[in-house]
Amino acid sequence: MTFRPYTGQAVALATQHQKHLALGPPFAQELGATVVLAAVDTDALGTFTGDRPRVGTAEAVCAEKARLGMAALGLPLGLASEGSFGPHPDAPFLVLGVEVLVFVDAPRGLEVVERLVAERTNFGHREVATADELSPWLPVVGFPEHALVVQPLGAAFAAASHKGLRDWAALRSAVQQAAAASPQGRALVSTDMRAHCNPTRMASIATLGQKLARRLATPCPVCAAPGFGRIEVVPGLPCGFCGEPTQLVLAERYGCALCTHREARPRADGRTSADPGSCEFCNP
Ligand SMILES: [Zn+2]
Ligand SMILES: [Zn+2]
Repeated sequence: MTFRPYTGQAVALATQHQKHLALGPPFAQELGATVVLAAVDTDALGTFTGDRPRVGTAEAVCAEKARLGMAALGLPLGLASEGSFGPHPDAPFLVLGVEVLVFVDAPRGLEVVERLVAERTNFGHREVATADELSPWLPVVGFPEHALVVQPLGAAFAAASHKGLRDWAALRSAVQQAAAASPQGRALVSTDMRAHCNPTRMASIATLGQKLARRLATPCPVCAAPGFGRIEVVPGLPCGFCGEPTQLVLAERYGCALCTHREARPRADGRTSADPGSCEFCNP
């Protein structure tokens, strides 16, 4: 028996960045639900390009956005996503993207969150005096399929910035203008992380949408609320040689988004011991 609590229902998606392209298909396939675009000013809650400061946790911002969309369309179900990008906490020379997707079901009083750590991201920036200096970097960040943002280095964020740049002529002229307006004579060129300007990010959102839709199709074994799934992983898989706990996942904890039901489950892949290569004692 498949569990399809949202068949035939409309879900408001608050976005100005075409995320329905990524989230519509999994919600249709896994749930039989239709994702409907809600035209609300989600930028008021904070943007990637730094024009406005962001407030609150990603989950809280997401739930707030979803509710704005629901209110705009008068729908009881809503969806919103947020991404954040920055240096990897354990390896500052690597960058990491974290995507959060929140589903709100007002009648059930349910908020279901899925997260995705995207190790594939083109997030980055360069400071240059001329566009020619960007040449070696452009293929690395996937230009022109992935757009860029250009602003004067050292000027206030309110200063004119050029977003969504996807062709060489526009990039060149934006760098020229920004460098001229910068006290240091340089332009700050960054990857445009808005979903519709960044196919890598759009793909991450699609993967996350698939995860969330599958989770919503999973009922809690106790109260039958949609959205039962993994809430955390427990490290400590014992080393196969010395038996000491490693940082690898020992078990997964599943939980309901509505009631307090929790379940510990062994690793899905059935592994019960770690390779001594990942043991701090055997391989310090
Ligand atoms: Zn060991
Ligand atoms: Zn439950």
